[in-house]
Amino acid sequence: MNAGHCERHDELLDALGHGFIGPELDAHLAACASCRELRLVAGALLDDRVNAIAESDVPSAGAMLWRIRMRSRREAEARARQSLFVGHVVTLAIAIALVVAFFGAELASAARNAIGPLTGTPFAVVVAMWLLLIAPIAGWVAMRQK
Ligand SMILES: [Zn+2]
Repeated sequence: MNAGHCERHDELLDALGHGFIGPELDAHLAACASCRELRLVAGALLDDRVNAIAESDVPSAGAMLWRIRMRSRREAEARARQSLFVGHVVTLAIAIALVVAFFGAELASAARNAIGPLTGTPFAVVVAMWLLLIAPIAGWVAMRQK
């Protein structure tokens, strides 16, 4: 199929390049098979080029820098969170140790009284249950005082 050459091909290519076809050129397209064919071919190529640019996701220098900055900030935040978490764990452990050291005997007898219905439960289990109950409270108090 040879639609022949049309003197308006350059004009049409230019219009396609700008993404805008004026009404007058559009009217010519309706009448000119050669231009319609060119628009079909060139339009597809131009679309491909536009899509390729949009999808290539090549970061600009600014975007790259921003991304690196965001990443290092996230890493710094993660480090801070981690050390904060370690600090809380240490505080909690110290709080538990202090509670056990100062109130171990009272807790034990209190636990013994509290588990009247549970007689037969190993004493160590009772103490562990009490510690589980008290540890979060003690840790919270210790952290509040920091
Ligand atoms: Zn034409």
